[in-house]
Amino acid sequence: MFVDCLLSMRLLTAPLVAIAITASVYSAENAFPYWTMIAQWKNPLLFLAGMMAGVRWPDWDFLIPGLSHRSGLTHSLLLPMVVYFMALPAIAAGLSLGIALHLSSDIQPKAWTGGALIKFPVLGSIGKRLSPLWLFINIAGCIGIMAASLDIEPHFAQLIMLMVTSAGTFWYFSREEKRRLIPLTTLAASGLLVHSFRSGLLTLNAVTQLFV
Ligand SMILES: [Zn+2]
Repeated sequence: MFVDCLLSMRLLTAPLVAIAITASVYSAENAFPYWTMIAQWKNPLLFLAGMMAGVRWPDWDFLIPGLSHRSGLTHSLLLPMVVYFMALPAIAAGLSLGIALHLSSDIQPKAWTGGALIKFPVLGSIGKRLSPLWLFINIAGCIGIMAASLDIEPHFAQLIMLMVTSAGTFWYFSREEKRRLIPLTTLAASGLLVHSFRSGLLTLNAVTQLFV
């Protein structure tokens, strides 16, 4: 019971702070529409809020009725994708970063059994071969959403968001995840993959030919 309570607090605190930041940004924008400083800082702050919520979001499968732990619905790019299409790219980018950090830790369980496997409602577990692949594809997808969202920001916001990215990644790997090698390698590999697609070095055609 005590452990359950601690877990819920851990899962709730960061998203609540994120909601508070988002609410303050929008109310400041409403109250002082002529302040250019608010317009400049709005998206970097929404990005920070998204990242804080995103780091904890995947484990909300503990709190959402009907989902088993390591649910494929929360351990995925689903939420940032929905938020992106709701025309909130800065929040989508932050969520993507947070979720990518979380999933990079989940890709190195002690063993690919039980609680480590990705599960879906009705379908159940997708097994030990597909679970790491699922995580990798979704990390790459999150980085893709993040890159697409950052593209449309003005230069100043991009700069601050990159600083938040570095600070957030540094915080995550110094406080939350001490076994850093596999997560950092996974993040770097997915970043490289996304970069190759975006710069045209790699095409979907080339990838399918690899498997056919
Ligand atoms: Zn998780």
